[in-house]
Amino acid sequence: MTGAYDLEQSMDGWVFQRSNPEGRQPARIRMRLDGIVASLEDGTTVQIPWKGMRLNAEPGGEVIYCIAADGAQRIFSEDPDFLRAVEAAGGNDLSDALARMQGTRTSTPLTHRLGCVGCLTLTIVLALSVPRLFRWGVDSTVEALPYSVDEVIGEQVWGGMDLGGDEVSAPEVRDAVQAIFDRLTPHSELPEAEFQFKVIDSEVVNAFALPGGYITVFTGLLTEASSPEEVAGVIAHEMAHVTHRHGLRRMAHSVGLWASVTLVLGNTDVLASIARDLFTLASVNGYSQDQETDADLEGVRMLMAARIDPTGLAHFFEHLAEEHGDVPDSLAWFSTHPQHEERIAAIEEVAAANANTDEWEPLDVDWDAMLKALE
Ligand SMILES: [Zn+2]
Repeated sequence: MTGAYDLEQSMDGWVFQRSNPEGRQPARIRMRLDGIVASLEDGTTVQIPWKGMRLNAEPGGEVIYCIAADGAQRIFSEDPDFLRAVEAAGGNDLSDALARMQGTRTSTPLTHRLGCVGCLTLTIVLALSVPRLFRWGVDSTVEALPYSVDEVIGEQVWGGMDLGGDEVSAPEVRDAVQAIFDRLTPHSELPEAEFQFKVIDSEVVNAFALPGGYITVFTGLLTEASSPEEVAGVIAHEMAHVTHRHGLRRMAHSVGLWASVTLVLGNTDVLASIARDLFTLASVNGYSQDQETDADLEGVRMLMAARIDPTGLAHFFEHLAEEHGDVPDSLAWFSTHPQHEERIAAIEEVAAANANTDEWEPLDVDWDAMLKALE
C-alpha cells in the first residue's frame, strides 16, 4: 500500500519560511524522489530534501511538519494522506527522522488512554513502518504497540458483541471458572495482562478470547467437560491467544501495516469498525494454524507452571471424539480448533517430557455444585 504512492499526486498545505514575516503561505505540495516541493501562489517553489529533514507532529493536532535541516523552512499539511505520502516518497532517507519524530497527537480517546507510552510507541512504530524496515513485518509492529492497545480493542468489541445468550451469574458457576483463572493468571507470560470472563448460557461448546484478556466461556463447554482440568485446558489455550497477542496480529495482518500504524495514531472509529468486522461470534476463533499450535504449547506451559494436569485438553478432545464421532459444528470450539489427533499427541508429548505427574494439584472447584447450578 505504502510503496504504491503516486508521486504525481499533490495535496494542499502550507509553507512557513523564517525569512517571510507574513507567516505561513498556502501551497500545493508534491513529493519527489529527492525531497518535498511546495508551489506557492506567486509561482515560486520551496524544496526541502529528504536527507537531513526533520519531522514533527503538532501536539493534539493532525498537522505533520517537514522541517529543513537548518529550520529555516517548513512544509506542512493537514491532508490525511500527507504522512503516508512523505513516508512512501522519502523512504530510507527519512527513517531517522521518523524515528526521531516528536510531538503527540493526543486528541483522540485512544491516544489519550495510551498516554505517554503510546506517544513513544508511535515514534517506534513509525520508524518500523519505513519501507526499508518492512521485513521486520507486522509482528514487530505489534510487539512495539503497548498492550493497552489490545485492551482498548477488546473492551470495545466485547462491550458491543451479541454473545448469543444471557450471562450466568450463579456463584457456583462463576466461582468454578474464577478458580481456574486464579490458578492460571499468575503464570501468564505477560505480567500486565488482566483477565475478565463472562459465562454465557448457551448450549454451544465454545470459549473464545478477545485481545486484552476478555474471555467468554459458554455453559455448553462446562457441561460437556468431564473435569475442571479439561476446562482449564481450553481456558489456558485462550489465555495464550491473549498473552501472545494473536488477535492484534490477526488484525494487523488483515488491515495491513499502514492501517495498523493509523490505529496507533488514534483513529478510534477506524479501530472499532475494523475490530467489529473481524471479531464476530462466527469468526472469533479464526486464528492461523501456527497461532493455534503456539496457543496449545503456551497453554500447556501455563498449566504445568500452575501445577494443573495439562493432559486435560487432550482428554477433552478424546472423549468428544468418542461421544460425537467426527466433531460436529455445534461443538464450536473443537471445530474451529481442528487437527485433533496431532494436537493430542503434541500436548501429551510436551506434558510427558516436562512433568512429573505426581506434581499436579487438583483445582479447587466444586464441580458437582457447578453442574447442579447449570441444570
Ligand atoms: Zn485457539
